[in-house]
Amino acid sequence: MSLVVVGSVAYDGVVTPHGSVERMLGGACTYISLAASYFTPVRIVGVVGHDFAEEDHQLLTGRGIDTAGLERADGLTFFWQGEYFENMNQRRTLRTDLNVFETFDPKLPAHYQDEDYLLLGNIQPALQRQVRAQMKSPKLTGGDTMNLWIDIAREELLKTIAEWDVLVINDEEAHMLSGEKSLRKSAEKILAMGPKTLIIKRGGDGAAIYRSDHYFVAPAFPLDSLFDPTGAGDCFAGGFFGYLAGIGFNPASDFDKKELNRAVVFGSVMGSYCCERFGVDRFRTLTREEIDARYNQFKEFTHF
Ligand code: AMP
Repeated sequence: MSLVVVGSVAYDGVVTPHGSVERMLGGACTYISLAASYFTPVRIVGVVGHDFAEEDHQLLTGRGIDTAGLERADGLTFFWQGEYFENMNQRRTLRTDLNVFETFDPKLPAHYQDEDYLLLGNIQPALQRQVRAQMKSPKLTGGDTMNLWIDIAREELLKTIAEWDVLVINDEEAHMLSGEKSLRKSAEKILAMGPKTLIIKRGGDGAAIYRSDHYFVAPAFPLDSLFDPTGAGDCFAGGFFGYLAGIGFNPASDFDKKELNRAVVFGSVMGSYCCERFGVDRFRTLTREEIDARYNQFKEFTHF
């Protein structure tokens, strides 16, 4: 059961109170696919420039990720730079250079189009729809977005998410999209926009799942040291969708709602590991055994 992932493959510069890195591998598609690769085969769709390093490509293929849909264009790879504030919960963007991303026209290789699972990482909603339209009949489609698109492409975004089974956003985006102050009310309004399942991520405060027939909340894993939260939200989405793809989840069947809860916890586990090192570094050594151990700790911490 392969998961098709589209999104940015980038170089990032990150400044945190623990130090800074001028340039490292990043991008939503990169984080999502690395996290999901522990649960299911992954095929990515994206674009990089001529500066994209072979060792970064090898990190992806080394995790078994299919890069047939990763186009190499003439130009520079997308570059993003952000700075975290003291509490690490908030950040500001210092620089966004779209580079080859500006003219990105995603094309799915033929062998991607029959897959059952599709995760649309944060890119322009029109491009997300374009990718969705190239899939024949995915069982589960979900995606992410950001404040920029809610702000400047609201109508396009509404058309896009109306076709999804699952929307994964953070609390700030949920308030912005719904115009509501309370999360519960925001969730009600967003569910009425189309997606049957809504996940609201709250960084260090955990994540919740909202459906008309189900609610579940999980805390964030209590980390000793939080180095770099970049990509944590994407790793959450990768863990969530990767787990569901790995078990062959079918939202059209009479499924066990507890599988959605387990997916949220695996999402939280992947987000927490991501924060332990700068960029994607934790994924160079992370094992499935470590993931399962943290999942079991989660169970102990939350059982009563
Ligand atoms: P997260 O911390 O989960 O929000 O994801 C951070 C990643 O998103 C970074 O690796 C960036 O390269 C990527 N990113 C930042 N801004 C954008 C954007 N406008 N479009 C696509 N990806 C972006």
